Amino acid sequence: MEQIKTFLDESEIPRQWYNVMADLPTPMKPPLHPGTGQPIKPEDMAAIFPMNIIEQEASTQRWIDIPEEVLQKYLLWRPSPLYRARNFEKLLGCPVKIYYKNEGVSPAGSHKPNAAIPMAYYNKVAGTKRITTETGAGQWGSALSMACQMFGLPCRVYMVRISYDQKPYRRMMMNTWGAECLASPTNLTQVGRNVLAEHPDSPGSLGIAISEAIEDAVTTPNTKYALGSVLNHVLLYQSIIGLEAKKQMDKLGIYPDIVMGCCGGGSNFAGLALPYVADLFTGKKVKIVGAEPTSCPTMTKGPFAYDFGDLAKSTPLLPMYTLGHDYIPAPIHAGGLRYHGMAPIISHLVRESFIEPRAYDQMKTFEAGIKWARSEGFIPAPETNHVIAAVVDEAMRAKEEGKEKVILFNWSGHGLVDLSAYDAYLSGKLQAYELPDEEIEKALLAIKDFPKP
Ligand SMILES: *Cc1c(COP(=O)(O)O)cnc(C)c1O
Repeated sequence: MEQIKTFLDESEIPRQWYNVMADLPTPMKPPLHPGTGQPIKPEDMAAIFPMNIIEQEASTQRWIDIPEEVLQKYLLWRPSPLYRARNFEKLLGCPVKIYYKNEGVSPAGSHKPNAAIPMAYYNKVAGTKRITTETGAGQWGSALSMACQMFGLPCRVYMVRISYDQKPYRRMMMNTWGAECLASPTNLTQVGRNVLAEHPDSPGSLGIAISEAIEDAVTTPNTKYALGSVLNHVLLYQSIIGLEAKKQMDKLGIYPDIVMGCCGGGSNFAGLALPYVADLFTGKKVKIVGAEPTSCPTMTKGPFAYDFGDLAKSTPLLPMYTLGHDYIPAPIHAGGLRYHGMAPIISHLVRESFIEPRAYDQMKTFEAGIKWARSEGFIPAPETNHVIAAVVDEAMRAKEEGKEKVILFNWSGHGLVDLSAYDAYLSGKLQAYELPDEEIEKALLAIKDFPKP
């Protein structure tokens, strides 16, 4: 019998997260205070995040212990299985072995609980009484709702309006886990009211929802905000994926030629890839590829610039690839990839050529996702379809070059709550969408006078 899955015992779960900040060969630009233009100080963020998380955000310590209480929750589904996609390989008929980390086995159905659980935990021990957040497609909101429930914290989620309407089941999951979920823009915040005054039918965006959640947190006592991607501490928590994958690949005695993931804010991709990027720094050869949508081509078309993480300009200025903080992406179905910026760590590594970015159109990604579902069975999230499209490309390239390749990628989540997107694709209602250059130029006017990294 051919082996499909590689497991780790519970006792083999990594006990520490990996922090790539300790190993970067060239230093990153610091986040800036928008008022002074000076590097941000920890106390500047104290209204939004608890101090223990702020310390991790700025940490350059290579290994950080995973608290026992967090490990205990991780064990509900971790270590996640490493799969070999033998059926997909046969379908493609290319000289590749394809391995993937199945992050769809978590209770919320994606990698997001890897970060939500430590965030809820650290807030709890810091004395936070209530948490607010935003969510795109609903995966982050549902993951944080579950995590807050586990640690006894009330949670309010501002959900991007277009997804709230397209994906009611995520809201139901949040409610089931005891959280409150509102369609953003709302009329409960100043930011929301401003957007609605100008665009009463606004589909919302992650940038707007983040602004609403931050405004709520800073104007309500004992309330903090949690961000599901982009920031250093989120990437740190997700490193559990790559650390497990390495142990599993070691068991098989295999090292990958190519490591891949899909990129919204960059957290699941970083989770798998950064422990391999660490190998790149020590001279090992491995190609690292991140896949994003052509409708929100942050890394492939945006400039590397200082920009806000949100529409209301409430975050520090982050050095990153960006399409401008007031860019509202087309309402494609991969809601989790509709973010104007990219994690500063991932942006830095793209700029330094350690990571290759690629962009895929939603028609191509659904075509790849359907191929996957019809061979491997599991139905991928629309976001995950982007990396599957990239895997197909790499497999075809290997065939053209007549070279055998081992591909490892992160299967970031299942699509069982996104079936309306598959329905739209299968009934011919989806179309290709590429962001025109003129629109990018227009969106970038918002940051033209910002400091340059
Ligand atoms: C949220 C999400 C993404 C995109 O977010 P990242 O921070 O880039 O990982 C990708 N896939 C799934 C399934 C998601 O839920």
